[in-house]
Amino acid sequence: HFQQMERADRLASVGEMAAGIAHEIKNPLTGIAAAISIIKEDFDKADPRADILNEVLDQVKRLDKTVNDMLFFGKPSPPEFVYADINAILNKTLVFASQYKGGKHIDKKLLIAEDLPYVYVDPKQMQQVFLNLILNAFQAMPGGGELTLVTEQSEVEGKLFVHITIADTGEGIPDQVLEKLFTPFFTTKAQGTGLGLAICHKIVSQHNGVLNVTSECGKGTKFIIDLPGVLKTDLRNDNGLPPVAIQDV
Ligand code: ADP
Ligand code: MG
Repeated sequence: HFQQMERADRLASVGEMAAGIAHEIKNPLTGIAAAISIIKEDFDKADPRADILNEVLDQVKRLDKTVNDMLFFGKPSPPEFVYADINAILNKTLVFASQYKGGKHIDKKLLIAEDLPYVYVDPKQMQQVFLNLILNAFQAMPGGGELTLVTEQSEVEGKLFVHITIADTGEGIPDQVLEKLFTPFFTTKAQGTGLGLAICHKIVSQHNGVLNVTSECGKGTKFIIDLPGVLKTDLRNDNGLPPVAIQDV
């Protein structure tokens, strides 16, 4: 327990530092992007210097994403909970994520359970979890492969759960990497930030859920999210649940 405390303390201060740095970088970055956009207007589209400015803008965008991840990791915003249909959130994320496939051939397999219980979540935050996991899956399959999304429900001791599986047929994760997977800033990628899974873990925990991973080298990786489910019929009862708001995502 003592060791766990130490680790929690250390992570908290890493998070604070990350958020502090990110905050300092964010404003100048916005200034740079605005300045480049203005300068760009002076160049003809065919001018090679316009290409350079676009390249700079792309890099600024990448930095901005990293900075936002650092901010969220260090100072996660509390979820804005609503009752939502997890299938709708997953579908929406999948459509958005498809643009990041990068020309690879990736087969999508959807095994979606109808009539799932609702989940009590922040839809934006859950989208971020799904997006991070789907992008990791794409990146783990440089030569293409299969992305499988599964939703299902279970009941344990009278309690409902919704399970979301995001699986790829990529390179898999060796044991020594698996241990560090959720550690902030741990990455095996040249251009990675190592914040994606740390953020996923944080968000899922804030939703009273569990994020699990299994992987087999050379075969692929499976991330499974378990979330508490809420029966649709329960929402209509006066049973002490917060006011009903079904989010249409
Ligand atoms: P990043 O993607 O920036 O590296 P993440 O926190 O998203 O950071 O992931 C951390 C590391 O976990 C990755 O660098 C990679 O080594 C490993 N990883 C995550 N998802 C997968 C996956 N689906 N298949 C193989 N390795 C993965
Ligand atoms: Mg990632």
